[in-house]
Amino acid sequence: MAILIDGKKTSEQIKSEIASRVAEIKASGGKIPHLAAVLVGEDGASQTYVGAKVKACEQVGFQSTLVRLDADITEDALLHEVQRINDDADIDGLIVQLPLPKHISVEKVTAKIKPEKDVDGFTPANVGRMALNWPTYVSATPYGILELLKRYEIETSGKHCVVIGRSHIVGSPMSILMARNDYPGNCTVTITHSRTKDLAEIAKSADILIVALGRPEFVTAEMVKEGAVVIDVGIHRVADESKKSGFRLIGDVKFDEVASKASAITPVPGGVGPMTIASLLYNTLLAAERKIYP
Ligand code: NAD
Repeated sequence: MAILIDGKKTSEQIKSEIASRVAEIKASGGKIPHLAAVLVGEDGASQTYVGAKVKACEQVGFQSTLVRLDADITEDALLHEVQRINDDADIDGLIVQLPLPKHISVEKVTAKIKPEKDVDGFTPANVGRMALNWPTYVSATPYGILELLKRYEIETSGKHCVVIGRSHIVGSPMSILMARNDYPGNCTVTITHSRTKDLAEIAKSADILIVALGRPEFVTAEMVKEGAVVIDVGIHRVADESKKSGFRLIGDVKFDEVASKASAITPVPGGVGPMTIASLLYNTLLAAERKIYP
């Protein structure tokens, strides 16, 4: 049976490390890290995500500001609001919750965020720095995966890493990070996507398989090499009458059968997911301490 890579436990550990650092900053009379989150509209999932981020800030002792804007706000007015937060010296980190309403350009809004405050790591400047392996804010999900590999001491050098999915927020940055000359990294990377031929064969040649395609239980045991490390990024709700909520969460990987073949695996829930908020808090601490842009 595979080692369970426990994202829930690891994220709690990271949060407690951050809380200790905040306590030190407070004790020495320093400035408490401050995250501002912009939420446009009333989308239920977005409200839940932003709510969880604000709550996590409280948990570690950060200051947080939630800026709620109407769904019919103009693009110009939103850009103006981002600029206002860029200019607010008290705010260290700024995130704009996605998705945005259709009439607003995500590219324009992202590009407006000051790279120094871009703790989501989505701006072109910070994505470029990531590609160059310069100090940067690595976006939350890829950062969380790197941290899990590191804290579970997974050997990556010289390994074949196969990434399934090429999205801007997961697959594409993961492929760059796993190939860089660093730890975790130094892998030979194959990135695969919806047009890839012989995906099962390629996946089966992976020592480290990172799965982020957004299809429930897509990866089965036949697609996985004996002893591989499997990182499952997918999250899907499926109806489950036995649960109070009426649903349970599953990943992009068929967990039970793949776990019996893998050497280590992230579960869903409790794997990559909980790491995301811990990563955002970590980036906010870096921003407050001027660690990336001194
Ligand atoms: P996306 O839809 O933006 O991208 C999916 C990618 O998978 C695309 O690049 C596409 O080419 C590829 N793909 C689709 N079908 C494929 C196929 N049959 N074979 C090979 N490649 C295929 O998705 P995303 O935003 O990267 O998210 C992927 C999954 O991860 C989703 O389930 C999402 O909910 C989840 N997710 C989880 C977290 C987290 O914190 N745990 C964060 C982000 C995304």
